[in-house]
Amino acid sequence: MDVAYPDEMSARAHTALHVVKGAAVRVLGEGARWTAGTFVEGGHGRLTLKFERKPTPDEISRIEEEANRCVERDLRIEVLELERGEAESTFGDLMYDLFPVPADVMILRVVLIRDVDGSIWNVNACNKSHVESTGRVGRITLGDARFRPSRSTLEIPFDVSTTP
Ligand SMILES: [Zn+2]
Repeated sequence: MDVAYPDEMSARAHTALHVVKGAAVRVLGEGARWTAGTFVEGGHGRLTLKFERKPTPDEISRIEEEANRCVERDLRIEVLELERGEAESTFGDLMYDLFPVPADVMILRVVLIRDVDGSIWNVNACNKSHVESTGRVGRITLGDARFRPSRSTLEIPFDVSTTP
């Protein structure tokens, strides 16, 4: 099933989730690799990750810097349609979020962002609408990140600029 966003702004904010996720894993390490939730409304979004501690303010500003570096590099958003087994043997768990893709889904749409050196910035089984490249996301500004110790989650809110 295709879940399209009604407008370009939401597609930009949704694509920013992939950009911010890649930045968070780069700064915080593999401990931040599981996405526990996402939210997008207009140019606003929120990425919720499983994480075990409160990040430092320095880490949060580095995540914002890395995310905007990714935007400045204008990396292509590749959308692959792959047979599930093939996708899993290529990307493994890296492409999955905490909540599983239903077992009866046999063809996966996989969103792939590669950095300029060919390394994977973010790979995610995702059937939503994306812009064509990270440059189209526009500048990303992070809000106040919130760590919830009882749930071991880190919420990272953000806004994308009004125009890319
Ligand atoms: Zn997506």
